[in-house]
This record gives sequence, C-alpha cells and structure tokens, in this order.
Amino acid sequence: VSVSTERPFKRYGHYIGGEWRRAATEETFESVNPATGEAWYQAAQGGDADVDRAVRAARAAFEGVWSEHTPLQRGKLLRNLGDLIAEVGDDLAIVETRDNGKLIREMRGQMRSLPEWFYYFSGAADKIHGETIPTPTREILNYTLREPVGVVGAITPWNSPLLLTALKLAPALAAGNTIVIKPSEHASASILELMPLVERAGFPPGVVNAITGDGRTGHALAAHPGVDKVAFTGGTETGRRVGVAAMEHLAPITLELGGKSPQLVFSDADLDAATFGIIAGVFAAAGQTCVAGSRALVQHSVYEEVIDRVAERTERIRIGDPLEDDTELGPLAFKEHRERVAAHVAVAESEGGRLVLGGKQPPGLDQGWFYEPTIFADLSPRMSLFRNEVFGPVLGVLPFKDEDEAVEIANDTRYGLAAGIWTQNLPRAHRVAAKLRAGTVWINTYRTLAPSSPFGGFGDSGIGKENGLEVLREYTRLKSVWVNTSSAPPGDPFVLR
Ligand code: NAP
Repeated sequence: VSVSTERPFKRYGHYIGGEWRRAATEETFESVNPATGEAWYQAAQGGDADVDRAVRAARAAFEGVWSEHTPLQRGKLLRNLGDLIAEVGDDLAIVETRDNGKLIREMRGQMRSLPEWFYYFSGAADKIHGETIPTPTREILNYTLREPVGVVGAITPWNSPLLLTALKLAPALAAGNTIVIKPSEHASASILELMPLVERAGFPPGVVNAITGDGRTGHALAAHPGVDKVAFTGGTETGRRVGVAAMEHLAPITLELGGKSPQLVFSDADLDAATFGIIAGVFAAAGQTCVAGSRALVQHSVYEEVIDRVAERTERIRIGDPLEDDTELGPLAFKEHRERVAAHVAVAESEGGRLVLGGKQPPGLDQGWFYEPTIFADLSPRMSLFRNEVFGPVLGVLPFKDEDEAVEIANDTRYGLAAGIWTQNLPRAHRVAAKLRAGTVWINTYRTLAPSSPFGGFGDSGIGKENGLEVLREYTRLKSVWVNTSSAPPGDPFVLR
C-alpha cells in the first residue's frame, strides 16, 4: 500500500460506491498548504447531486452486500484497515501536516495511535447485542435487538481530519452501518488517501464514501432525507445548523463542538507539571484543538509564579516549518482563521487584558499563516477572551482565592467540553472533578484520549458521546420483540395484554 506524499499537485474526485467521480457540476476547489500559502491539490466541490449519489450508494450497500456480512467479518475488515493504516502512518502524517499545518511530530503520534480505534471497534463488532427483559407476564418473552441505524453522514473539521473521522468511522462500521464522509475543504487529502486503504482492507463498494466540498456540501449531507444519522465535529454555531437540518428529517445526531476549557492550578500543585500541562493544553497544535485549555485559573499565592513559568517556557517555543522535527508551533490552518485569532487578541487588548507575551505575527515568517503564542493575564469573567473560543494559541490567565471560587469561575461558561485540575491533594482532586461541568476532566494530566474512554461535551460543547462502548448506542437503534410462549387460547381481545 502507498499514500501519495510526493506528487506536487494532485486532482482528487469524490469517492462514491468504490469509484472516483468528478462533481456533477464539474466544480473544483484548491487546498492551500498553510506553511507556504501555496495550493497543493485540487478536489471536487460536492453539490446536491453528488451528495444524493453518495447517499444512494451507501443505502444500496447497507441493504445489500454489507447486510450479508456477519459481525465477525465486519470486525476482521476493521482490523485489516487498522493494519494498513499502521503501515503507512508516517506518510498519512505528512499529508495531514501539509494540509492543516499541524506539527509533523504530533501528526505522526496521532497516526501511530489511529489503528487502535480500528482494533478496539474490530473487537467490539460481535459484542453488540440486545437483552432479555423481564415482563410482568410469565408467558411473554421480551427481548431487544440492537440494529444498525443505516446510512451515517459524517462531517468533520480540519484540525485532526483522520482521527476525528476514525472516531465515527470505526464504531459506525462495527455496528453495521454504511457511511458518507464530508471532510473540511481545508483538509480533505488524508481522508481521500484513506479510501484506497478502505478498499484494500476488503470493504465492499459503497460501505465507505467520501465527498469533498465546503459548508454547502456538509449542509446537503445533513439535510438529505436518506441519511439516518448525522455525526458532526466542528464549531458550535455550525453544529447548531447541522442539528436543525438533521432534525428536519428526524435523524439522530452526535455533535462534538467547541470549548473554552479551564485548567485549575491550586497552590499545592506540582508547578513544573502544571506549567507543562498549561503549555500542552493551549499551545500544542497552535491551540487548534477542541479541548484547548484556554482559561488558566490559578490560586492567588502562586498566581505570578505560574504566569512567569508559563511565559518563560512559551518564549522558548520554536515557531516554524511544521514538517521540521524540532518545530514546536506551526502555522494556523488558513488565512481567515489567523485573522479571526488576531481579532480575538485585539478585543482582549481593548477590554483591558494584560498582554504578557505575543499578540502578533512572528517576524520573519511572512509566507504562511503563523501567529505567536500569546498570553493575557488578569482576565475577568466578563471579558470576551474568557467567554469565547479562539481556537488558536491564546491563553487567558486569571486568579482565584479558594476551591469554591475556582469551581464557580470554571463553570461560568456556556461550554462544557473538558477541564484540568492541578493539585496534590487527592480528596480535593476528586471533589472538584465531581463539581466541574465538563464531559472530560483530567487530573494532573491534560489532552489524553483513548478509544476505550467515552468523550463528549456538555452544554454548547455538544450532544452525545464518541469512543468507548458507549458510542455504539449512537450508531445502533433498539427494537423490542414480544413473544407469546403460552399455548393457552387467546383471551379478551378488548383488553391490553
Ligand atoms: P466548522 O467550521 O464548524 O466546520 C466543521 C465541518 O462542518 C467542516 O467540514 C465544514 O466544512 C462543515 N460545515 C460548515 N458549514 C456547514 C453547514 N452549514 N452545514 C454542514 N456542515 C458545514 O469547524 P472548523 O472551523 O472546521 O473546526 C473548528 C471547530 O471544531 C472548533 O470550534 C473546535 O472546537 C471544534 N472541534 C470540536 C471537537 C470535539 O470533538 N468536540 C474536535 C475538534 C474540533 P468546511 O470546513 O469545508 O467549511
């Protein structure tokens, strides 16, 4: 197997029913490498007709060849796909770095763990089952069947294209669904490069389809009445629109949305570890992660010390070409996104935040969409930087006096994706974890993820869970079957049995 990393300019089509196809309208778009500002491939701009074709192909596979596969056979194909990804992981990492500008070392790490998602759900495929349920009547047998929902429409963002797609693809296939994937127009290449691997793994045509395009393509997919379930990862406002489009035809949804996650540093914390955690939380991936720990809440007595420590390490962050092994901060994913980040910083300055570091484009890096890691101190909960997701390398720090105030400030948000707690006091760690309104809480660590552990936000951070056996509920529907085991004559037809 191979993944194309060398070709300077490639022209991709949609992958529908096992074949590469141009857009019905022949429209295309170009994707730009954010580290150089140069277009590096062309892809098809999907319209209603392409989405319809892909959904029909997925439906035909779902009702036909895919329904003939046993759970064990589905599991085996998922394992094959995991093995193939493991073989070409380093090449897929290069493709993603070219596409979204994230560090090659991070993408390599992600690609190394990516097969785990396919292995985990490979093993789960034949463990999806209903239950036998006791009823008040002894002669009545009641059991449930857990069935696939049908055709899944998956819409994913540009920040971790393959990983965030795998979170949907692996459980959807394990449960017996077929899928149409719509990656972001800013980073579609790795998803398209995955398609030959899907084929090679042995998935029949139509089980996995990929259509490219912008938000209009995503909308057409979410709104298509032939889509039985919509799985979306992206921004909160887009998620809301996707949810409304899916509800028009009553398709169940999973929404993994944005966040403004707090990191709570108590005075009894290991400050080396907390400094590491804050940097990892907000400057890894240039802050372009949904779980970015963008609000650091620090107890008064160590407040200035933590700011100094974080600033000292931040100043030494090496900014540059994301394909270089020693780079620590790459560019932002596209030009408009950098403008958005800069606008957030301008508002924070105008609202009186104390700029400790950064706040501008790094000198000497004019070609790509770079932005300096930025720290604001003395944030207050009414400031925009406290409330709104930046999705860039911008940290806001604010002080708290005690545990109650820390929890109150942390929970003062419409989001609820993740939170970090830094303390060496064990009872406090668990007490605070229970009080925080967030779908994931990390204690003395940050940004850890595994296929086995459920992930998903509260409030404006989303609906439903990904990962873990829990996600299989999202990709199945339950049927209740009633059986009369009695040989007695039927009773009164006018009475509910
Ligand atoms: P986005 O703009 O919401 O886009 C996400 C996906 O939706 C893209 O494929 C996008 O296509 C598509 N889209 C845009 N408008 C649409 C519409 N009206 N209907 C259907 N689909 C539409 O998000 P993003 O900027 O790519 O990603 C950043 C956001 O994702 C952040 O808020 C981040 O927190 C969130 N995120 C959440 C998680 C999580 O697991 N909770 C993980 C990662 C990221 P185009 O890109 O082609 O326009």
